[in-house]
Amino acid sequence: MMKKISIAIDGPSAAGKSSIAKIVAKKLDYVYIDTGAMYRCVGYYCLQNNIDLNNETAVSAILKNIKITMDSNNRVYLNEHDVSDQIRQDEVSMSASLVSSYQDVRKFLVKQQRQMSNMGGVILDGRDIGTVVLPDAKLKIYQNASVETRAKRRFLENKQRGLSADLETIKKDIEQRDYQDMNRKISPLKKADDAIVLDTSNLSIDEVVNEVLKLAKQREMEG
Ligand code: C5P
Repeated sequence: MMKKISIAIDGPSAAGKSSIAKIVAKKLDYVYIDTGAMYRCVGYYCLQNNIDLNNETAVSAILKNIKITMDSNNRVYLNEHDVSDQIRQDEVSMSASLVSSYQDVRKFLVKQQRQMSNMGGVILDGRDIGTVVLPDAKLKIYQNASVETRAKRRFLENKQRGLSADLETIKKDIEQRDYQDMNRKISPLKKADDAIVLDTSNLSIDEVVNEVLKLAKQREMEG
C-alpha cells in the first residue's frame, strides 16, 4: 500500500530547497509548506510596524496580531494581504533570521507548522524541520550547495524578480544568515542524524527532483 508521508527538507539559505520542494509537491500531489515564508512574515510585519527587531519582548508582543495563510499556488498572505513578493526582499531575509532566534516566535510558528502537517502528504522546507518540527518525518533531506553556487543562483533569481542584485552583497548576506542560523541557541540549522545529504552544487534542478522523488516513492512503499 502506498501511503502519503511527510518530507522534510532543511539546509542553508538559497540552497534551492523551495524550488525542489514545489516541484516534488506537484508531482506527488502533496502540499508544500514554505516555513521560511512564515518567519519572513514576522520579520516583515515588524519592519512595517516599526517594531524594534532587537527587542525580543516587543517582537513577542506582536505575534498575536499575525495571521499567516498560504494558498495552493504558494502565495503567502499576512493578515489576508498577499505579501509573497514583498517578503523576498533582502532586508526581510535578514529580519526573518533575527526574529527566528526568539523562542516565542519559534513556538508560535512551529505549532502552526505541525498543525498544517498533521494530515501527512506534506513537504516542508526550512532549517529545523527534520530536527524539531517533524522529527518523525519518513524522509529527511539536507540540501546543500557551495556558497558560490548559492549566491549565483540567488543573484539570477533576484534579477528575474526584478529585484536589485549585487553578487558580492548577496554572498555576504547568505554567509551572515547561515552563521546566524547555525549558531543560534534554539533550533539551530543542523543536519538531522537520519537526513540524507544532497549537495546540489553540480546538479540540475531535474536531477535533484528525480533523486528526491525516488527516495519519496521508496518511503511511500515502506508505508
Ligand atoms: O528559507 P528562508 O530563506 O525563506 O528563511 C528565512 C529565514 O527564516 C532563515 O534565514 C531562518 O533564519 C529562518 N527560518 C528558520 N526556520 C525555518 C525556516 C526559516 O529559522 N524552519
